[in-house]
Amino acid sequence: MNRFEKLSLLTENMDVEEGEKLETAIKSCPVIPSTEKLPMVTYAKMSGGKTIPLLKSLITSVCEKNCKYCSFRAGRDFRRATFTPDEMANTFLDLYQKKIIEGLFLSSGIAGGGVRIQDKINETAEILRMKKNFGGYLHFKIMPGAEFDQIQNLMKWSDRVSINLEAPNPERLNILAPKKNFSDELFTRLKWVDVIRKNKAPNQNWKRKWPSLTTQLVVGPSGESDLEILKTSDYLFKNFNVARVYFMTFTPVVDTPFENIPAENPIRGNRLYQASFLLRDYGFTFEDFEFNPIGHLNLEKDPKKNWADIHLKNNPIEINCASKEELLRIPGIGPKRVELISKFRKHKKIQSEDDLKTLGLSIHQVGEFILMNGRSPIYQLKWTF
Ligand code: SF4
Repeated sequence: MNRFEKLSLLTENMDVEEGEKLETAIKSCPVIPSTEKLPMVTYAKMSGGKTIPLLKSLITSVCEKNCKYCSFRAGRDFRRATFTPDEMANTFLDLYQKKIIEGLFLSSGIAGGGVRIQDKINETAEILRMKKNFGGYLHFKIMPGAEFDQIQNLMKWSDRVSINLEAPNPERLNILAPKKNFSDELFTRLKWVDVIRKNKAPNQNWKRKWPSLTTQLVVGPSGESDLEILKTSDYLFKNFNVARVYFMTFTPVVDTPFENIPAENPIRGNRLYQASFLLRDYGFTFEDFEFNPIGHLNLEKDPKKNWADIHLKNNPIEINCASKEELLRIPGIGPKRVELISKFRKHKKIQSEDDLKTLGLSIHQVGEFILMNGRSPIYQLKWTF
């Protein structure tokens, strides 16, 4: 099997959190023989807002665990493949040099224990940074059961590391992945990343800063509520400075124990993202969300708009003197827009639709929730006609 055949097998069936395949770019790539299937390319958003294409691959699709939702689970009959760290690094660099991708997101099945596979991932990272002097974006998965020193070494070469908790608590994980131990194998490792970032100076790191940390939860098949998911997410944001919790809305895979469980509604994933951002960046608390009796958010409504409809429609906020916290409660206004509004107000009052437009705000979005100089912009609009 040549290395691009292997890459096709290793990238096949990987879930995509954000982004899509760059099929046209890959098809026209002279590096990949035209007979091969396309490797998986996803996008990652950088801190400055730029989006870059990433190769998302496993180092091996052999796995001894039996997670009930996963296409790579032990015993499932399909063609598997394994890269050595050198093969992984060189194949990635071939695609990088052809400008197909700009970064790597490397995960793995678990064959021979998490410690052994972590060594392979760490070796790939070290080859790319030390031997090949690769300076671009690298995101590496931390394996269940990885050792403290392995995690600390990996963090030296990474822009981002992630550990998938998969479920919001041990009871739910037991339904999804009976061979994984929530507290010991996963949660403790996630905590170590934060301990390392808090207690050690990143002097020896290639960028002299520690990587960001993310995790992922599978949404749907364990019967978990949105409240359970959001409570865990909020804990991770506040205690371990987790940059983002990804929500993988479940889709059944044939020949797995969950093949007959219906796919989760993707809108549920969107609502969870919206609510988690409100908890992380907007000062919202659980009391600000409406949960139904079984702990789910309303699928029909954006949770911020829902809050504003209840609290602001009859009590709009004066945009010229609102605090940062109050501004963040208005639909359409996020942390960046708050900065723009603060700068604008230093020079001039916000008093017209044009002023709102200058701030990137639509009167249709914010009009019913604000006052400008004591007057509703909706009312002002009516009189303009
Ligand atoms: S450990 Fe990872 S690759 Fe293996 S079955 Fe579980 S989710 Fe799939």
